[in-house]
Amino acid sequence: MDFLNIVVLYVLGFTICLLLYLFADSNFLKRGPIGKLRKLSWKLLRHIVPWNWIEASLTQAHILLNSRNQVFRVLFGTMMVLGHIEFILDIVPMLYRFVPDENHVVIPIFLVFLNFYFYHKCCMEDPGIINAKTVDRYKNVYPYDGRMFKSGVTCVTCHLEKPARSKHCSICDRCVHRFDHHCIWTNNDVGGLNHGSFVLFLLSHIAIMVNGVRMASRSLYLYTQHYKLMQTSVMAPDGSMQSITLTVLFQNIEIL
Ligand SMILES: [Zn+2]
Ligand SMILES: [Zn+2]
Repeated sequence: MDFLNIVVLYVLGFTICLLLYLFADSNFLKRGPIGKLRKLSWKLLRHIVPWNWIEASLTQAHILLNSRNQVFRVLFGTMMVLGHIEFILDIVPMLYRFVPDENHVVIPIFLVFLNFYFYHKCCMEDPGIINAKTVDRYKNVYPYDGRMFKSGVTCVTCHLEKPARSKHCSICDRCVHRFDHHCIWTNNDVGGLNHGSFVLFLLSHIAIMVNGVRMASRSLYLYTQHYKLMQTSVMAPDGSMQSITLTVLFQNIEIL
């Protein structure tokens, strides 16, 4: 399968999964043709796969997503390291081949260290855990609005008075000051005290991706220029010769 088709399939698959996730509770997905298809697939699955296998898989998925564990930390580290090894083996040598006087490794290595530094901070920093010692401090940070956050409300699990804008995380079993969300990738909560590190972690990740696209596009451009690919022609399935277009170039990117 050529590169362009793989990219299109990937984007399409990702968009469909995202839409299914975002509109999972909508009438269209629950009762419409997609809802019927979903019920039919579920019935088929139950006929093909033994019920205790399905139950065991659902239990494992529940444990993985709704309890504190190191699986996603290991997954994140592995993806980052393998992704960078692939990038260094594929893109960097090509850039050195065409632009030997420039340093092509300092920026990606700096960005990946920056990313790991903020990732480590997000994993280890206190998000603003509320306990008997800290509850009075956090109660004075934000005023109670009397609507969403009322004074004198106690967390039924922690048995401590809930400061305004705090929330109980059922996965970590604790109340967190200015709770944002529980992040499975950092195995920690994002709250009032580590929110800044989390934003910097995301920004450093965006910087890695932007730099990756910049370096990959540049290497492709230099390769195309060097071999004058846009001035050559290719043989079409019917045997005729056609001049290369950008689409043809992208479709054959894996053989470059
Ligand atoms: Zn949590
Ligand atoms: Zn609580």
